[in-house]
Amino acid sequence: MFDTFKKYGWFFKLRWKSYTFGVVALIICAILQVLNPIIIGTIIDHFIAGTLNWEILLFFVSLILVFSLVMYALRYGWRMALFGNSTLIESLLRNRLFTFFTRMDAEFYQKYRTGDLMAHATNDLAAIRFVAADGVLTLTDALSLGGITLFSMFVFIDWKLTLFSILPLPILIIVSTYLGKMIHARYRGALQAFSSMNNHVQESVTGIKVLKTFGEEKEDFVAFKEETQKVVDKNQRVYKLKAALSPSIEIIMGLTYVIALLVGGNYVQTGRISIGDLVAFISYIGMMQWPLLAVGGLINTLERGSAAYDRVENLLAYTPSIVETTNAYDQSLDGDIDFAIQSFTYPDDVHPALTNISFQLEKGKMLGVVGRTGSGKSTLYKLLLRDYDQYDGAISYNNINIKDYALESLKKGIAIVPQENFLFSTTIRENIRFGNPTLSQEEVEKYAILANIHEDILEFPEGYDTKVGERGVSLSGGQKQRIAIARALAVEPECLILDDSLSAVDAQTEETILSLLKQERRHKTTIISAHRISSIMHADEIIVMKKGKMSERGTHQQLIGINGWYNDMYQKQQLEKKLDGEGM
Ligand code: ATP
Ligand code: MG
Repeated sequence: MFDTFKKYGWFFKLRWKSYTFGVVALIICAILQVLNPIIIGTIIDHFIAGTLNWEILLFFVSLILVFSLVMYALRYGWRMALFGNSTLIESLLRNRLFTFFTRMDAEFYQKYRTGDLMAHATNDLAAIRFVAADGVLTLTDALSLGGITLFSMFVFIDWKLTLFSILPLPILIIVSTYLGKMIHARYRGALQAFSSMNNHVQESVTGIKVLKTFGEEKEDFVAFKEETQKVVDKNQRVYKLKAALSPSIEIIMGLTYVIALLVGGNYVQTGRISIGDLVAFISYIGMMQWPLLAVGGLINTLERGSAAYDRVENLLAYTPSIVETTNAYDQSLDGDIDFAIQSFTYPDDVHPALTNISFQLEKGKMLGVVGRTGSGKSTLYKLLLRDYDQYDGAISYNNINIKDYALESLKKGIAIVPQENFLFSTTIRENIRFGNPTLSQEEVEKYAILANIHEDILEFPEGYDTKVGERGVSLSGGQKQRIAIARALAVEPECLILDDSLSAVDAQTEETILSLLKQERRHKTTIISAHRISSIMHADEIIVMKKGKMSERGTHQQLIGINGWYNDMYQKQQLEKKLDGEGM
């Protein structure tokens, strides 16, 4: 149980002042709390003996008042100290996790699902925070209040009476700990049922269009009803135990009171203790109840906190495979790209995704990459961006291996508009200048014009201030793609990659954008992949990918001449275009 606290050692050390203050304040509170019953007992004894006068009464009453005030101040103090610490450890770890998340590589995100990572960042951190405040509080309070109360019963009242009366208390510990554990286990089951029900709602609402199109609403509702029933059943199981717990506590406490009254009453009669002592003793028994019950809760808190801490530590111990070499080149990319990969296989996969890919791309040229879906186009870019490092071969930029560049230089030099693009839930302006936050409105507009999205933006209710994402305007697929292109252009990358980034715009818009790009980026390198041949036919060189290999390569004219896949596709698409035109 105590090794949980060991794990938090660094944090206790960091905040030792406030922890010391909190713990000392708690102990003083416990002492003051234990003094009250003695004062009340003394007043009663004076009363019975007929020696109670106004002076004595006033003295004791003011003592009680002063104690209450001091306890108020101390309680306020330790709460501030301990709970302040708990939010601090949570934010410290949260920041560490977030920085860590931003540094991880593609392999990491393939291994850990978003849902699990979210669970670490929320549930686990909450459990850790709980130990840092409630754990410390419960432990100190239970030990000090329980210990001091027991001590007072033994020393100030009567040791024999104490021994007899506390006989049933171990049963209380056992019952509360045992039932507490069972309640917790069932509670976890209830939580799981609840979260699965929540997931169901989320998925159904997100996929409502698909659901309706397939007419599956009724079936979905039946499944949902089953889930809600599960939540009810599981919660009922929790309440059953909870309902059993408090009466059992009352029975055991009742037993303690019975013994105290029987034995204590007898002692009062024989003159061994006074009535005031008995009254004080009875309130001590009441005070013992909380520390004993707290033990069960404490074990639970510590166990959960410890497991959560281990999970977070385990996660943080992950070392990314993509690291910077010492003395990495910290210079901007400039020059030709040399791609020479013998073989690359995704981690956890057996078949190579790329084999024998070799090409040179001169600075300022445009490369087109085409090929069937799954042929390896996106994989090519992932290697260039250093998402993956374990391959046979080398990729160099300006005759320097990309692995020898500082990561920052590489990321700054190459911008990609990914196939599955993503916009942040903020304004369109912020999205465009995401990689270059100091851009002026004029510059932002320049890139929007290049990406052929400026006109569209002006038509939105708040122009560039329009918010996108869940709480903002709904953008069409093509609008999203063009904003993502503007965002990539805004960093003025030495090498721009458009990975199927124009798939959702019509052929004419695509042509406009491409000719603008060609003009604007005539001194910089551009790589474009697409399914539409028209998108890449004007490139300086074109590569055709097939099952991870380069099957054809050349200019548009040369590839037409080869009469292979490229020519086939080109003719087919030309025909489709013609038919489309006639149909209109
Ligand atoms: P598309 O035109 O559909 O975008 P693509 O040419 O970009 O296809 P890639 O995404 O490069 O194709 O995929 C090439 C192959 O690698 C596919 O067989 C795919 O299943 C596999 N692959 C892609 N990503 C991973 C991954 N993270 N782990 C394992 N295999 C992967
Ligand atoms: Mg792809």
